Amino acid sequence: MYAEIIIPLALPRNYTWSIPDHLLPKVGVGGRVEVSLKNKKYAGIVKQLHRDKPEAFLPKPIEGIIDQWPIVHARQLALWAWMADYYMCSEGEVMAAALPAHFKLSSASILLFNDTYGDDFTDLDNEEYVVAEGLLIKKELRMAEIQQLLDATHVYPVVKSLIDKGVALVWEALQDTYKVRQEKYVILNPEYDAEEKLADLMNNWSKGPKQLELLLAYLHLFKTQGIVTQKELLQKSGASSAQLKGLSDKKVLFIEQRQVDRLQYLPKSIQIDFTLSEAQEKALAEVETHFAEKPVCLLHGITSSGKTLVYIKLIEAYLRQGKQILYLLPEIALTAQVIRRLQKHFGGYIAIYHSKFNQNERVEIWNKVKNGEIKAVLGARSSLLLPFKDLGLVIVDEEHDASFKQQEPAPRYHARDTAIYYAHLHSAQVLLGSATPSIESYYNALQGKYGLVTLTERFGGVRLPPISLVDTRKVVREDKGKVLLSPDLKEAINQTIERDRQVILFQNRRGYTPYQVCNSCGWIPECRNCAVTLTFHKQAHKWQCHYCGTSYPILYTCPACGGHNFTQKSFGTERVEEVLQETFPLSRVARMDLDTVRGKTAHEQLIKQFEDKRIDILVGTQMVVKGLDFEHVDLVGILDADSMLHFADFRVHERAYQLMEQVSGRAGRRTETGTVMIQVSDTKHPVLQFVQAHDYKAMYDYEIQSRQQFGYPPYSRLIRITFRHKLEPTVMEGAETFAAVLRGEFGAYMTGPAAPVVQRVRNQYLMELLIKLPRDGHMIQKSKQAIRQAEAMMHQDKRYRSLVIVPDVDPA
Ligand code: ADP
Ligand code: ZN
Ligand code: ZN
Repeated sequence: MYAEIIIPLALPRNYTWSIPDHLLPKVGVGGRVEVSLKNKKYAGIVKQLHRDKPEAFLPKPIEGIIDQWPIVHARQLALWAWMADYYMCSEGEVMAAALPAHFKLSSASILLFNDTYGDDFTDLDNEEYVVAEGLLIKKELRMAEIQQLLDATHVYPVVKSLIDKGVALVWEALQDTYKVRQEKYVILNPEYDAEEKLADLMNNWSKGPKQLELLLAYLHLFKTQGIVTQKELLQKSGASSAQLKGLSDKKVLFIEQRQVDRLQYLPKSIQIDFTLSEAQEKALAEVETHFAEKPVCLLHGITSSGKTLVYIKLIEAYLRQGKQILYLLPEIALTAQVIRRLQKHFGGYIAIYHSKFNQNERVEIWNKVKNGEIKAVLGARSSLLLPFKDLGLVIVDEEHDASFKQQEPAPRYHARDTAIYYAHLHSAQVLLGSATPSIESYYNALQGKYGLVTLTERFGGVRLPPISLVDTRKVVREDKGKVLLSPDLKEAINQTIERDRQVILFQNRRGYTPYQVCNSCGWIPECRNCAVTLTFHKQAHKWQCHYCGTSYPILYTCPACGGHNFTQKSFGTERVEEVLQETFPLSRVARMDLDTVRGKTAHEQLIKQFEDKRIDILVGTQMVVKGLDFEHVDLVGILDADSMLHFADFRVHERAYQLMEQVSGRAGRRTETGTVMIQVSDTKHPVLQFVQAHDYKAMYDYEIQSRQQFGYPPYSRLIRITFRHKLEPTVMEGAETFAAVLRGEFGAYMTGPAAPVVQRVRNQYLMELLIKLPRDGHMIQKSKQAIRQAEAMMHQDKRYRSLVIVPDVDPA
């Protein structure tokens, strides 16, 4: 017998190992086995068992079995295979992205001692004991060292068992930077979940009246918000910690120290305490009707129409059927707000998952999703790779968002599209939701491939905010620089703050000034490693490259001419924040961009502060745009719309519309006092007219025509091939040679190779080749094959051996 095994590497295909007779009864598809490849060991996953003896080589035997039970379901393996094929990478690369580090063992792994385990090793067998002792003394061991200690060939099962027992951890190169926030939560002893039991307890109350009050306060808080923290309970009930301790000693309430994100210990209960509006009710019914016929449905609902409430009702329905649910969001940032809303209704049924979790938590969630214990998962892109047991529904919220597409490293998958395939494997349904659907999804809906449901009114009948344009050409400026704050916008901010309402200002560049120019000779500071200008960061007092992250000291003398005067062109969020602070000294101004929200809690805190009205004006990049629900925002200002309308990308209009409409959608969500102001010089731009009219359909009609005319998606499928090398001639010639190979058959569909706008990043020169294929499955397969062959051929050639060739299917 032989086994096809996936190992977490970028190999052109999976390799085969033979199964020794004594291991035969234990080998199973989806479980990990220990194998060697080129003198290195790996924990690989068995993809299939077969009897076809490979002809070209003698397969080596599998060395050991790591898992007794599969760690992935058959559907996972099918998904990996599809992703590898569709997105042109190896199944091993998908495996590497999907599995928590603790599952990925190789000769390069380093094991750490888990200090919380202590030094009582009585539960360990002999081999485990030897390694645990070694770990206790040395704190960390390499795989090779463990091998020496054990003097055995089957090291991995011992390592696995040490990880399972919590003695050891796998060290990761990318240590989590995110500090988990701990908080004390109070929960009712599950014995009293049944109402009779609880009534019994209260009717025969034997403790003090203060403690009964405390219990009632707890029950009230629990009913209204689902989770109860110790801090809040004590605050709201006015009880003392001693009284709470009394109840906990008597096992009425439990107090648990937990990480804020870990929700699986909340009581599992469903509480729907709202009723849908008529329009929402109708939308829900339509979605359900579509689902009876089509697996995918697009919910196009304007901002603040209550899409989340429709999702919640749907989740409820699938939960009651015992199905699993996946709720995908484009950004971790957004999960913080949405999870609070979902917890309230689904308590411990819903768990959150994203890349900032530590490895133990990931394994825990992985296993609980695999065995069906966790019913619903809210997460960013990567939660799609969890091993769902019985998925019934996938919700892709903000489905238009480009961050659903993974850029680096492989698999370069689009989570929305992959979700649709994955759901198909489960015969599950997919709901795509957005106020500004992607052109592709809307097209699919109009074609009848997806169901289409629309919500055209805001909840409570609130109108969408009126949008006015401020023509920046008419604003007089002495230095002729870009207009940051026009008098009109300044006045509007003033009025808004006077009414005690909040303001959001959107500027899509962080830092202080994106570039500066020497007044005498025109010299511009650029990154040494990348062909981009440096951004001035005032607070951090440095110049920084936003492509590679390198920082530079600030120069006050021009290195080219010795001049002392620089003009600062354009502006970033840091500058905006400063100007606002000067202009509105009495207001509380805050900034939300990559620089201010390092780590995860920073983000959550900012959002919370803004919700609680402890901030008057919030300045931010894209981050403030995404689906956030703020009650008190009246004014939204878009400071520099021109920068969104003019850049070279076929999606430029679609993206500009989405950004502006989404950011406008943060204004006036509960009252009709919202307004939006857009500062722009190109006031006649058609996209602005669509945004002003809040007319998605008009934007779509305009855009779809040009997509058709120029053969862009949805009328074609794009594959972009990027070439990277540290020598410019190598990358230029390499790209050309590669293109020449494909040109015979695919020349008609190719654009380039050409240098991208930024031609050098991290000391690597870049070239790009774009292939625009007709939507013909056969042709697409053929071209992928041709690309792989061309790549293999190039790498045979000594000159191009180190040329990096990266295909990206459906580039964002
Ligand atoms: P969207 O996701 O479509 O932008 P949300 O789901 O965030 O809109 O809803 C906007 C606001 O209106 C939320 O604060 C939500 O709680 C409120 N809302 C919407 N529908 C209802 C409803 N049926 N009952 C109570 N509140 C609602
Ligand atoms: Zn100069
Ligand atoms: Zn750089």
